[in-house]
Amino acid sequence: MNPASIAEIASAFPWFFPLCAFAVGACVGSFLNVVIYRVPKEESIVSPGSHCACGQPIKWHDNIPILSWLALRGRARCCGRAFSIRYPFVELLTALLFTACWLQFTPLVAVCGWILLGSLVAATFIDLDHMIIPDVFTLGLAVVGVILSLCIPALHGQPGDYFVVASLRAGVASVQGVLIGSGLVLWIALLAEAVLKKEAMGFGDVKFVGAIGAFCGWQGAVFAVFGGALVGTVWFAIAWTWQKVSGKASPVAPPSETPEGEPTALAFGAHVPFGPMLAIAGGLYFLFFRAPVAAWFADVSVLF
Ligand SMILES: [Zn+2]
Repeated sequence: MNPASIAEIASAFPWFFPLCAFAVGACVGSFLNVVIYRVPKEESIVSPGSHCACGQPIKWHDNIPILSWLALRGRARCCGRAFSIRYPFVELLTALLFTACWLQFTPLVAVCGWILLGSLVAATFIDLDHMIIPDVFTLGLAVVGVILSLCIPALHGQPGDYFVVASLRAGVASVQGVLIGSGLVLWIALLAEAVLKKEAMGFGDVKFVGAIGAFCGWQGAVFAVFGGALVGTVWFAIAWTWQKVSGKASPVAPPSETPEGEPTALAFGAHVPFGPMLAIAGGLYFLFFRAPVAAWFADVSVLF
């Protein structure tokens, strides 16, 4: 297909490519459900194929993202056991993120965004389940981010008049994002440890912010840290108030454990995973806040 006919399709059917992005996102979300379940257990993500907890393989027509869960009303066809609403939620969330990304960026940058946002979704749910982020979504994602920046300089808004120059500029922006992002979190973690006399942030968070920086530059990494703290504070306040008023844990409370790793009710001093908050803020930055935040930092830097 030549570019002219692609442009023709896009102008005659403006919904066609966004709908494709939605469908790709739903399928990737379905795959992420497997990743979220199997990667922390160090199981293969390819084989065996999807199967029910009762051991029956799931047929392809019962494995269509979002639709199958609705058609079967959240129950397995083989044994009737309930499937968590989280499966279609992850599929729908990924589909919406992919569509938003497609509508915001040129196709190449949108595909880079899919890699970042898909990884953020997987890391979020693994961190909620296990309170760890596997290295593939921190170190691995950072390496992928730097390589993509060198290949597709537009990822960091570098114009492409001279590819080599743009590529180097974007590569530098990406490496700066890794170093400044992870360095900032490392300093916050060290200071908090000195003040609170206990571990406040995991090393996984340090590496995870580095990965966000590789795609978003240092401004995005800084935004993820402070935006993430804000998201976490609001989330904690809502869940904690819910718990106080109703006497029960909020259904969407972040999981919490004692510093020794025992599950506990949400309270001050309990450990909650910070990865999801970083991912929410980092994802919002990539999709919506890049231009205004970069402009703000440019204004502030004039002061010094
Ligand atoms: Zn079954």
